[in-house]
Order: sequence, then structure tokens, then C-alpha cells
Amino acid sequence: MHGGTTLARHRTEGERQVVRTKAAAIVVAAGALAGVAGIANATGGPQGRDIVPMAGSTDLAAALVATQQVQDGGPIRTVHAINPGSETVKLLQAEQIQAQYHVRQALQTAQDGYNVRQEAIRKEQARLAAEAEAKRPKCVKPTQGTFTSGFGARWGTSHNGVDIANAIGTPILSAMNGVVVEAGPASGFGLWVRVQHDDGTITVYGHVDTITAQKGTKVRAGDQIATMGNRGQSTGPHLHFEVWVGGSQKINPVGWLAERGVSL
Ligand SMILES: [Zn+2]
Repeated sequence: MHGGTTLARHRTEGERQVVRTKAAAIVVAAGALAGVAGIANATGGPQGRDIVPMAGSTDLAAALVATQQVQDGGPIRTVHAINPGSETVKLLQAEQIQAQYHVRQALQTAQDGYNVRQEAIRKEQARLAAEAEAKRPKCVKPTQGTFTSGFGARWGTSHNGVDIANAIGTPILSAMNGVVVEAGPASGFGLWVRVQHDDGTITVYGHVDTITAQKGTKVRAGDQIATMGNRGQSTGPHLHFEVWVGGSQKINPVGWLAERGVSL
């Protein structure tokens, strides 16, 4: 009776060993399958199931529990013969694949957050640029200096613009937004720059020393287009400034600028 109990216990212990060993084989197989499923899920899009990390520890008991859960979720038909060396390698590979998957997920999450922040920054920059653009003056004084000659009859001829005198090299600015339609030599002006504005009006900047905005350049009010010079028929360094309404009709720049809030 007593001896029989001991024998029975020994037998039971032996059977448990066998069961545990078989279970270990299933753990390995399930782990490998879970790893493969993980790859499929990772590439299969957002509908893929989350991977349940399994056999993630060296604790066999925990692994057995995990194996049982997988078996409940679906039949595992493959049962390998035990080969501790290679099965361990598979287990490690499966764990590695899962770890890599989680790292990729974490990186993707970080990337998504980064993209959201970058988009917010882009929107804010665009808003600030629009705000700055709205605050920009629509019209500016084309250069700084002394008003030396007005529009109209002068010395028996017609003076088609105004003169503003200052030192050679003084910046000359586009009076309004527009496009440089000409920048180069011009009879009497030495060098000139002409800018056509959105309404078709052309402004003319004569006797310039250097040209800083070439033909075709899109400019905004206040952008530098040239420097003041003394070229052509000029009696001293100054800007000769003209306004051609409709691209040809020369009018008094003083009134044109005054209408736009600029006084010379
Ligand atoms: Zn002049």
C-alpha cells in the first residue's frame, strides 16, 4: 500500500516530465508561428491583430501558460521532435522578430507624432508669413534723400519724373509689388530699372549705379532693385523716378505716391 503509493507518485512524476517536455516542444512551435504571424500582421496593415508576446521569458511555466492561450485561440498542428539546440534558436529568432516589430511600431508612433508637429509648425509659419505680408506697406518711398527737382517743364523741356539726391550707392527700392521688366542701359539714364506693377503701371528708376534685381525678378514693395548713381545725363548722384500709368502715360509721381500714403 505504502510502496504502491510511492511507485504511483514516481510514475506520475515521470509522466509529468513527459508532458512537460512535449509542452516545451509545442511552446517552441507556437513561438515560431507567432513570430511568422507577427510578420504577416506587420505587413498586413492596420487590421492585423496585435501580437501576444509569448515564450518571452526563460521561465518555462510562463511559457506553458502562453502556449495554452494560443492553443485555445486555434489549433496548432505542427509538433516538432525535440531538438533543444535548434528549437532554442527558433525561440530566440521569434523573440527577436517580435522585439523588432515593437521597435518598428514605437518608431512609427514617434514618426507620426513628429509629422503632426511638423505640420503644425508649417501651418504656423504660413500664418505668420501671411500676417507679415498683410502688414507690409503697399507702397514705399523709392529712396531716401533730398527732393531736388519736380515733375514738369524744366529748362525749356519736360522733366518726366522727380529727382531725389543722395550719395552714390544709396539703396533704391521698388515702390510697389511687381516684376522687373527691364534692367540695363537706357539713353540719357545711363542705367535704368523698370518695374511693372499688378495694375499695369510701370515705375522707372534712372541714373542707377548698380542693378541689384535683374529683368524678370519678382519684387515686393520695398525690395532693393538698384543703387543710386550718377550715370547718363546727370549733374550729380540722384534717383530719377517716373510713373507710367497704363505702362506709358507719364504722370507726376508726387501725386501718385501721395494717393498711396507716401510723401516725398
Ligand atoms: Zn530727373
